[in-house]
Amino acid sequence: MIPLRQQLGFRNFILALIMMLVLSLASSAVQIYSDWQATTRNMENQVHQTLGLLEESAIQAAYQLDRVLAQRIVVSLMKTPSIFKAEIKDDWGNKLAETERPVMNSSVYWYDNNFIERYRTFAHTLTLPEKGIGVGSLEVSIDQAEIMKDFTRRSWQVVYIKLIESLITAMLFFGVFFFFVTRPIINITHNIAGLNTDPEHPELLDLPSRHKGDELGFLIKSFNNMLDKQLRIERSLTDREAYFRAVMEQASDGIFLLDSQGQLLDVNASACYALKHSKEELLSCSLFDICNEKYHDDLRAMIKEADFNTSITKEVEMYRRDKSINLMEIRTVQVKINDQTCLLSSARNIGKRKSAEERIKYLAFYDSLTDLPNRQLLNDRITQALRIANRHQHTGGILFLDLDRFKLINDSLGHSVGDNLLKQVALRLKSSLRSEDTVARLGGDEFVILVPEIPTEEYCATTGIQHLAQKILQLFKQPFIINGHKLFVSTSVGITLFPQAHAVSIDDLLRQADTAMYQSKRQGRNQLCFYQQQLQESVNERLTLEKDLHHALENEEFELFYQPQVNMQGQLIGMEALLRWRHPQHGLVAPDNFIGVAEETGLILPIGKWVLEESFRQLISWQEQSLPESFRRLSINISPKQFIQPDFVDQLEALQQQSGIDSSLICLELTENMLIENIEAAASQMRRLKALGVHLSIDDFGTGYSSLRYLKTLPLNELKIDKSFVHDIRTDASSLTIVETIIAMADSLDLEIIAEGVETQADQELLESLGCQHFQGYLYSRPVPAAECAHMFTSEPMALLD
Ligand code: C2E
Ligand code: CA
Ligand code: CA
Repeated sequence: MIPLRQQLGFRNFILALIMMLVLSLASSAVQIYSDWQATTRNMENQVHQTLGLLEESAIQAAYQLDRVLAQRIVVSLMKTPSIFKAEIKDDWGNKLAETERPVMNSSVYWYDNNFIERYRTFAHTLTLPEKGIGVGSLEVSIDQAEIMKDFTRRSWQVVYIKLIESLITAMLFFGVFFFFVTRPIINITHNIAGLNTDPEHPELLDLPSRHKGDELGFLIKSFNNMLDKQLRIERSLTDREAYFRAVMEQASDGIFLLDSQGQLLDVNASACYALKHSKEELLSCSLFDICNEKYHDDLRAMIKEADFNTSITKEVEMYRRDKSINLMEIRTVQVKINDQTCLLSSARNIGKRKSAEERIKYLAFYDSLTDLPNRQLLNDRITQALRIANRHQHTGGILFLDLDRFKLINDSLGHSVGDNLLKQVALRLKSSLRSEDTVARLGGDEFVILVPEIPTEEYCATTGIQHLAQKILQLFKQPFIINGHKLFVSTSVGITLFPQAHAVSIDDLLRQADTAMYQSKRQGRNQLCFYQQQLQESVNERLTLEKDLHHALENEEFELFYQPQVNMQGQLIGMEALLRWRHPQHGLVAPDNFIGVAEETGLILPIGKWVLEESFRQLISWQEQSLPESFRRLSINISPKQFIQPDFVDQLEALQQQSGIDSSLICLELTENMLIENIEAAASQMRRLKALGVHLSIDDFGTGYSSLRYLKTLPLNELKIDKSFVHDIRTDASSLTIVETIIAMADSLDLEIIAEGVETQADQELLESLGCQHFQGYLYSRPVPAAECAHMFTSEPMALLD
């Protein structure tokens, strides 16, 4: 209960009372003042009236100096209670009559000279009315205390009434205020204090119907809303806390709540279990007490750096109760609990994961049988060795080892003997090498030794590595004892050196060493071979080829095969002449194998000339047999060297005239790049050919520097879409796009288009749908000798080959 003095109603009452008192005093003062003015005015009027009444008699008495009359007048004046003295004087100022009575002792004596004069004198000059001559004066003195007696009484009455009125109003006001405001508020306060806030059965305030629309009703409603909101928040907080508690307790990770000094404030069951401590024991520790000292700096950093958004992860060793060690990964994040900034750490045992990771890492780089580096690690080391060798200009080597007849041992003695043998080989190899060298197992019985830098103090690098390889061969001289079997095993070694004149990849290096190793096998096993020898052989091969090529023409070893070109109806529209070399030893050799050499040696010129002669001759012979109507041209491949001869056109013209062939039946296939290299010369050469009536086609179109700019300036007839695009057209979007572009280009330049390498009906259909109308490829026929072409010369659609 609030003490009365502090109650709002009471304080209002006092305040109102004071204000009303002040107001009533002020209004009393105003009232009294105006009363005072009226009273004095009355009194003055009364005196003047009285004097007026007696004036005539007084003039007479003064004029005639009639003392008796004067005396009568002053006596009659004394009948007025407030007049206590009266006198009449003549015009000389001599008193004719005077009377005075003693003034009474007044209770309002205090007025005297404090606020107002108590005594006032009124002098009235006596003048003869007709003559206007002053004859004397009449003076009266009055005692205002007499008048004030009434006035004072009235004034007190006013003050009393006003005060009582104020008091009553203030009390009424207090009563009303108490009844309508204070008491309901007190009730509400009581009700609030007595509310049941148990979240399970919460109560709200009653809203009395009389307060429904007023401020108190509004207050109650607002309070209820607030209470409801608070209850809901409380409930969700409780639920959440329960949820978090459950999550914490159920978590398989250990969870620690720490203060900013690392003191443990809470832990879950998993944390207790992992550290084999009771909860009470842990709560008396700090994080530093349960972690190995060498991680303390890490932990301090973690505590400092963790914030609300980023968790910090550290690996630490935590002590169990028995001081054994648990490798944990702890992730820490800042949290705020009851306004205190804390840290929440979850700790996971990563001992097992670590060892598994290490094992996986190991397996990724090591061979599980021999524990030697595997191909992956070897590749890394070769990359590094190549880089260093390039930088420091020293020589390194790669030895490729393959055990001889290992398969035999494996098959006859079983895999476990095989495996053990591989292990022992690995051991022997490892023990015989320097620490900077790497011996790796690539799989099966293949081992690779990487020597990043061959020591060259005594010998040159080649001799140095040869010595090493011999040492290794020597290692195998001692038998291996495996499961009681005494095994004699040898190995074949292939060697390659790096860096090399041209940039080589790791795969190249390994392939070279592998090739050299096979060379060793071929030479009878148990020996070493350098890759260089292999190279020498291919050089030799090429030299013989070149030598043979010189005689091929005179020995008439060349032949032309022909491949048909067809239109959409499958009718024969042309043939392409393709060169073949019938080598006395190697049989039929494809042009890709000798055209390059022929070009390098210049032999391509007589060969090319022979091709022209032979193809013209063949065409004349076919013409005689009658070609189908649809046939338009014979295509002949021209090598760049041949084409740029200044007299190429003359040669061709001479051959054409000799053979008597119609030049419009000839189409020359040129390659893009040869045109680009010397576009001016090529263009003039082509213009002359065009003038002859010869058709010009660009072979393998799309693989070179295809550019509209030069296409426009050259007198071309046809573009031949390269077979590589046709091959991929249905599987590779970019090939499709290229083909589409080529066809569009040909269209815009008004060139014919032919696709080569068409192998399936689907290829043809797709090309057709793109706007290509001429085709060449295995779908219609492979290149065949002239003798086999006769069946193609029908006007019927060409039968497809099986
Ligand atoms: P090329 O001019 O692009 O000739 C087309 C090549 O594609 C021919 O190879 C042909 O056999 C092959 N081919 C034809 N249809 C198909 C098919 O459907 N699928 C596949 N995968 N290939 C097909 P070939 O006869 O071995 O000729 C190879 C290259 O040698 C020719 O390519 C040409 O550049 C050159 N060549 C051939 N004969 C001569 C010649 O007389 N003089 C010159 N200078 N070069 C020639
Ligand atoms: Ca060709
Ligand atoms: Ca081609």
